[in-house]
Amino acid sequence: MITDRCNLKCRHCYIGEPRGEDLPLDRMIRVLEEFEALQGLRILISGGEPLMHGEFEAVNDYLSDYPLRRVLFSNGLLLKEGTLRGLNVDEIQISIDGLRDAHDALRGRGGFDRAMAAVRAALECGFDVSVSTMIHPGNLDDFDRMEELFRELGVKSWAVDVPCPSGRMRLNTELCLRPEVAGGYLAYGYGEGLHGGGEGFACGLHLVSVLPGGDVAKCAFYADRALGHVSEGLETCWRRLRPLRLADIECSCDVLDACRGGCRYRAELFGNPLGRDPYRCAFFGLDAGV
Ligand code: SF4
Ligand code: SF4
Repeated sequence: MITDRCNLKCRHCYIGEPRGEDLPLDRMIRVLEEFEALQGLRILISGGEPLMHGEFEAVNDYLSDYPLRRVLFSNGLLLKEGTLRGLNVDEIQISIDGLRDAHDALRGRGGFDRAMAAVRAALECGFDVSVSTMIHPGNLDDFDRMEELFRELGVKSWAVDVPCPSGRMRLNTELCLRPEVAGGYLAYGYGEGLHGGGEGFACGLHLVSVLPGGDVAKCAFYADRALGHVSEGLETCWRRLRPLRLADIECSCDVLDACRGGCRYRAELFGNPLGRDPYRCAFFGLDAGV
C-alpha cells in the first residue's frame, strides 16, 4: 500500500479518511529489493489510489526493470491512454462495484463510465486486466450482466468479495449484507485469487502487506497489529507472522480443504478468530450459524 491518498471517497472504503501518507521512494525500493532477494513472485501495488503517490513517476521508473510480476490496483480514474502507455506493470486490477447506478452510488457519479473506459483502454494497451467487486445491496441484480460483460471484454480474473466494517464502511453499515444473502454471490468470481492460501493452511500464507507508514502486517485488516516496521527489514517482520494451520482452527466441515477457513479477519469479526467465516459457509451452502 504505497499511499493512503485517494481521489475518491468511496462509502465502503475499508481504509477510511486518508492522512496523506506516502511510503517514501527509498524505503519502497529497499522493500522491493528485499522481496526479490527473498524470491518473491508478485507485488500488488495498491493504496489508496497508487497513482496519487507524490513520486509515482519515480516509482514507475523503478518498476521498469523489476523482474517480478507487477500488479497495480486502481480505481481507474487516472488511467487515461497516455498514462497507461507508460505504465511498467503486467496487470491492472480495476474496481467495478456494479453496473452504472450501483457503482456510482458507492463511488460517485460518472465513476462507472470512467472505470469501464479504463478497463477497455488497459486491454487495448495489452495489459492483463482483472476486476474487483464488492457485494452490496445495490448490485445484487447486476452480477449476471457483469459476468457477461467482463468475460466478453477479456477480463482475466474477477475478484468478488464482501466489504468488512472497517474504515469508512463503519459509518455505512447498511451496505453490509448478511452472510446468507451475500455468500452465494462469492461464486461469481473467477480466475486467480490473491490472498494466498496453501494446502493445510488458512488464508494469507504467502502474503504480507507493507502499509504507507512502513508497518508490515498480515494484510491491511491487521494494520492495528503490525508485525514490525520495514526499517527492521521485511524478512525480520515477516518471520514474526506464524502461518495458521487448518488443524488449529475450529472449522469442522466436509469442505475444509477447499475453503481453508475463508477469511480469518471475517471470522474474527463474528467473534472468534479461530471460528468459521460465515460468508464462506453460506457460499458452500452450509448453515452460516449466525
Ligand atoms: S484475513 Fe481476509 S483479507 Fe486478510 S489475507 Fe486473509 S482472506 Fe485476505
Ligand atoms: S468457513 Fe465454513 S465452509 Fe469454510 S472451512 Fe470453515 S466451516 Fe467450512
